[in-house]
Amino acid sequence: MPAPILDRSETDHALPKKADVVIIGGGIIGVSTVLFLAERGVDVVLCEKGVLGGEQSSRNWGWVRVMGRDRREIPLAIEALKIWDGLDERVGGQTGFHRSGIAYISETETDIANRDAWLKLAQAHGLDTRQIGPDETAAVMLGAGQRYKGALYTPSDGRAEPQKAVPAIAAGARRAGARILTGCAVRGIEKSAGRISAVITEKGRIETSTVVLAGGAWSRLFCKGLGIRLPQLKVRNSVLRTSAVNRGPDGAGATASYAYRKRLDGGYTIANGGINMHALVPDSFAFFRDFQPA
Ligand SMILES: Cc1cc2nc3c(=O)[nH]c(=O)nc-3n(C[C@H](O)[C@H](O)[C@H](O)COP(=O)(O)OP(=O)(O)OC[C@H]3O[C@@H](n4cnc5c(N)ncnc54)[C@H](O)[C@@H]3O)c2cc1C
Repeated sequence: MPAPILDRSETDHALPKKADVVIIGGGIIGVSTVLFLAERGVDVVLCEKGVLGGEQSSRNWGWVRVMGRDRREIPLAIEALKIWDGLDERVGGQTGFHRSGIAYISETETDIANRDAWLKLAQAHGLDTRQIGPDETAAVMLGAGQRYKGALYTPSDGRAEPQKAVPAIAAGARRAGARILTGCAVRGIEKSAGRISAVITEKGRIETSTVVLAGGAWSRLFCKGLGIRLPQLKVRNSVLRTSAVNRGPDGAGATASYAYRKRLDGGYTIANGGINMHALVPDSFAFFRDFQPA
């Protein structure tokens, strides 16, 4: 199968002379930021070097979850899910978001015991997460070829469509007044008297006093050029797609070895559940201490 095909995005062509805020990068972070700022009446421009959502944001698993998050992320993830609930209406498009549940499958008694710690966090936040037994797991994992011991299950977690969400949010942002340019790499930031005065793009200069860097895996490189140390390392993972499957689980889930999510087109996005590849590069050593705890 070819690379994921994104929904079509309309964009702007004329480079504005100035803006209140310039956002670098048109992934999920950049387009969400541009939407929220435009809705508040901020004069905002987004510059994307390639196409909208053309990098990691169209290649992720498509899970929208609170379950399993670090305790410090839980309140933010709860708020994010509330935003997803109303997002289609807000942007007048289709992100593919559904609260279809996520299950962390337990294959051993130890898995079940280990999941209790997160269950306590969930209960403290009033979430609907619970430990389910083999029968309910079989119903959640409809069509599974084996019987599992159970699962930590959060019915209110959801899934979205990575190839739809970014274009839909970007379209909503443009309707709210944002300008979005693609094929427009930002090469650097200009300063006057110690303050940001402009961004320099491959198409010209935009005067601004505020820049949001949402450059994904390129952010470290961009910051390095500005003399800013951003501890960021890259991982590589493979994600595959099946074509439509008639009978199967509706939501998303993970066992120790693989993760799955049903897509709107009826197929599944399948990935390695727990292993990421990291190439040893000079930054691996430069940021060794930052990442040592992980
Ligand atoms: C295997 C895997 C699975 C994942 N699954 C999930 C999941 O299920 N759920 C979830 O919520 N998250 C998931 N994530 C994380 C999620 O994919 C990322 O957090 C998210 O996509 C990052 O979005 P972003 O906008 O920061 O970056 P990106 O999508 O990478 O966007 C950055 C954009 O900036 C542009 N850019 C960079 N430099 C410049 C420049 N100088 N000028 C102009 N443009 C520039 C790039 O071209 C790119 O389009 C997963 C991640 C991985 C690796």
